[in-house]
Amino acid sequence: MRLKSFLVAAFLFVTAAASAQQMPKIPVDPTVRMGKLSNGLTYYIKHNNWPEHVANFYIAQRVGSIQEDESQRGLAHFLEHMAFNGSEHFPDSTLLEYTRSLGVEFGSDLNAYTSIDRTVYRICDVPTKRQSALDSCLLILKDWSNGLTLDGNEIDKERGVIHQEWQLRSSAQQRIFERVLPQLYPGSKYGTRLPIGLMSVVDNFKYKELRDYYHKWYRPDNQGIIIVGDVDVDHMENLIKQYWKDAKVPANAAKVVDEQVPDNDKAIYVFDKDKEMQFSTVEIAMKQDAVPDSDKTTIAYMMDQYAKQLITMMFNQRLSEETQKADCPFVDAGGYYGQYIYSKTKDAFNLTAYAKDGKDLETLAALYREAQRVRDFGFTPGEFDRAKAEYMSQLESQYNNRNKTKNSYYGNELTEHYLENEPMPSIEQEYQIMKQLTSMPVIGVDQINAFAKELISNTDTNLVVDIFAQEKAGKTYPTTDEMAQTIAKVRAEKLTPYVDNAKNEPLLDETKLPKAGKVVATKENKTFGYKELTLSNGARVILKKTDFKENEIRFQGMSKGGTSLYGKNDYANLQLFNGALASSGLGDFTNQQVQKALYGKQCNVGLGLNRNYQSISGTTVPKDLETFMQLVYLNMTSASKDTAAVNAMMNNLELMLKNKDLNPESVYGDSVSNTIYGHNWRNKPLEVKDLKNFSYDRVMQMWKERYANPGQFVYYFIGNFDEAKLIPLIEKYIGCLPKGKAENWKETPNYANGNIKNFFTRKMETPKAIAFEFWHMPMAYNVQNDVLADAAAQVLSMVYLKSIREDASAAYSVGAAGALARKGDKAFAVMQAYCPMDPNKSDEAIKLLAQGFKDNTVKVDADKVQKVKDYMLKNHEEELKSNNYWMDVIDEYVWTNVDLMSGYKAAVQALTPEKIANYLKQLLNANNHAEVVMTPAK
Ligand SMILES: [Zn+2]
Repeated sequence: MRLKSFLVAAFLFVTAAASAQQMPKIPVDPTVRMGKLSNGLTYYIKHNNWPEHVANFYIAQRVGSIQEDESQRGLAHFLEHMAFNGSEHFPDSTLLEYTRSLGVEFGSDLNAYTSIDRTVYRICDVPTKRQSALDSCLLILKDWSNGLTLDGNEIDKERGVIHQEWQLRSSAQQRIFERVLPQLYPGSKYGTRLPIGLMSVVDNFKYKELRDYYHKWYRPDNQGIIIVGDVDVDHMENLIKQYWKDAKVPANAAKVVDEQVPDNDKAIYVFDKDKEMQFSTVEIAMKQDAVPDSDKTTIAYMMDQYAKQLITMMFNQRLSEETQKADCPFVDAGGYYGQYIYSKTKDAFNLTAYAKDGKDLETLAALYREAQRVRDFGFTPGEFDRAKAEYMSQLESQYNNRNKTKNSYYGNELTEHYLENEPMPSIEQEYQIMKQLTSMPVIGVDQINAFAKELISNTDTNLVVDIFAQEKAGKTYPTTDEMAQTIAKVRAEKLTPYVDNAKNEPLLDETKLPKAGKVVATKENKTFGYKELTLSNGARVILKKTDFKENEIRFQGMSKGGTSLYGKNDYANLQLFNGALASSGLGDFTNQQVQKALYGKQCNVGLGLNRNYQSISGTTVPKDLETFMQLVYLNMTSASKDTAAVNAMMNNLELMLKNKDLNPESVYGDSVSNTIYGHNWRNKPLEVKDLKNFSYDRVMQMWKERYANPGQFVYYFIGNFDEAKLIPLIEKYIGCLPKGKAENWKETPNYANGNIKNFFTRKMETPKAIAFEFWHMPMAYNVQNDVLADAAAQVLSMVYLKSIREDASAAYSVGAAGALARKGDKAFAVMQAYCPMDPNKSDEAIKLLAQGFKDNTVKVDADKVQKVKDYMLKNHEEELKSNNYWMDVIDEYVWTNVDLMSGYKAAVQALTPEKIANYLKQLLNANNHAEVVMTPAK
């Protein structure tokens, strides 16, 4: 839509501007160096120092699959893959080897994506110690922009990989989507340009077609370079000018033209089904023209975005309340205002829901009705005040953290500025503007309601409705006529306004708090840099102050016991304990009322039972610390039943579990857990038949038992707190809790021993094959073994990537992961490999999985070990700046007395190929190997 809404009109009135275009411009982050070369290449360079000593590099292309002709469907994405298979300065696969030697990992740090109208490549977290490494990363961007080799042999090898990717992504939703897209986009190329393309094109295109596509579209005038991090801005700018000085745009170069989406006068109704669909999804879109890029430069646009965000927030709160009503036909629903499916030129108010069995049309009616209720009556002042408080609280949180904002945040912002002309004010600027704008009475609930009326339509024009259902013999499906009648019926209904159930009193009545406790002892831990308090009720509290984030405090409390203390009869209750408590209320507040009371506060607290511990955990920010402590107190003492919320959770679970076996990946996942744990009931995946054994009363009884001993818990606070303020709150809200009795966990069974093979076949809509390998052995719990288990798996990942993906083209993705796992009083080294394979090459892939492991028990490549060490050391530097990491290592130290932090660097530096080979040999000789393979039934 153009920016001419009622909201803007109201706003123009106060700013005395004649049109949205004359409104004040959105400022541009003054710390970004921007420029454009004469050949059209655009660049953005921003110095940013968080995390320290690393930088991110991006190249964004303004082209994607929408530029393809019918005979080229899939080439834009194919080209993206070829960027990693040979270029002028990085022939063959040397790019991956080079970046890995910098400690940059393919997949997470080095990657790319192709969508409809863009292709973006990135190299992230590059260490900035050596200038030459940064220069080389820029050279990689240059090679991607105009120096790809596109060698015939390499192209042929990649065809199989793309097939695997297509197979991997093929799901019921994806298959339906491919079929119905032309109906959702009549008269537009958007209907036939999913980036994955056609496998007939992928298999058969001539080399020249890909090379032509590359030269036609990859040109400096379609390219933006973005560099963010600890870099010398002048140096990088000069280098860009030098590297791209000869890049040219050919005369008569093809223009990138925005693809349009025609309006539809008559509503579009689409129905489709698939045998592997597990439940019906119902969607409604009310289309409108997207804001043109040229209208995104004034503060009218920021207002527009703010209003849409608030409307989305308020609407979703209402939908979530709907699911708790006994007669609600859907189990989950959501709405947002944004792109219509994936087109840049058309937006929509989009609504989606998962329907209960047989309730497709009722769900459609309910969704449409809630949207019309907003259109007819708007939101209440209470809803508006809460949403606005929440918006400002999030913005303030971002503002307080502005000096610790990651490179990736700016990387995305600048990419969006290049591709879509999204504003790029600094965080300070945005905060100041929004603070001012949102305080103006002219943008109050009435204006937002008028705006919502513009976004939510009540006519057939530009309305699109679809239902995707499970296909099953004997089932009757809704017709598109019935879908149209359903909409017409809701339009004829007389609706009533929404009733807000928020409570006005405070969550906690402080007069009812027991007497505060006291700190009775304090000691310091030098190694980890924390202070440990002992409270008068026996509780231990560990305080580690950090400044990794200005605006974050992480919290956890734990004590021994957990699910290990309960038997098989409680299987369903144990499985559902965490979910049921998360859906419960506190005192006389229902779950929804608690949520409403917390709008505008950055606090979350959750309870959790795992095998050996009961825990409470959460995060907050300094300004909301007291509310957070009240939540901790209430969760430990006053969890209360909210039957409506728990019923909604059970309905949702029932729908998700009922047909989960229609999905091959889900069947496979269950087989893996059952196999590696020897069909132990504790690790059995939940099934729909288990739900009837759930008892909410029993779960509340278990909650009472598990949280009866707060004085036996160890509590941790890690982050940027003011100790002088925190300690009195700890005494008040934790020190007052009862002491309780000390408990321990019970030993429970772990992984199944021996060599176990579980090979099975399955009929599938798209034939797929997956292999999972799992090895384990008992091992001493210490930092050396922790490092060894991780490093060995990283080496194997590289081995597999080369042998299975690159050489044999037998899989799109394959990887290994390893860890030292502590289970009660025991510890195990575990290693797993996961490989979704080409069904025609599954025998070969399985052989290579075994071969790679075996070969490396004899000899490990020194070069690979060096790369793994570099990566681990680089990663560790970053971990040391995260509150989460410290929570983990301190927690391990408290319970086991094992320090996994201090010796880490030395343990990595001491790694050798021989040590890794020897470790793999022990693991192989332990003879605990489970193998689970699923292949398609003929
Ligand atoms: Zn891909």
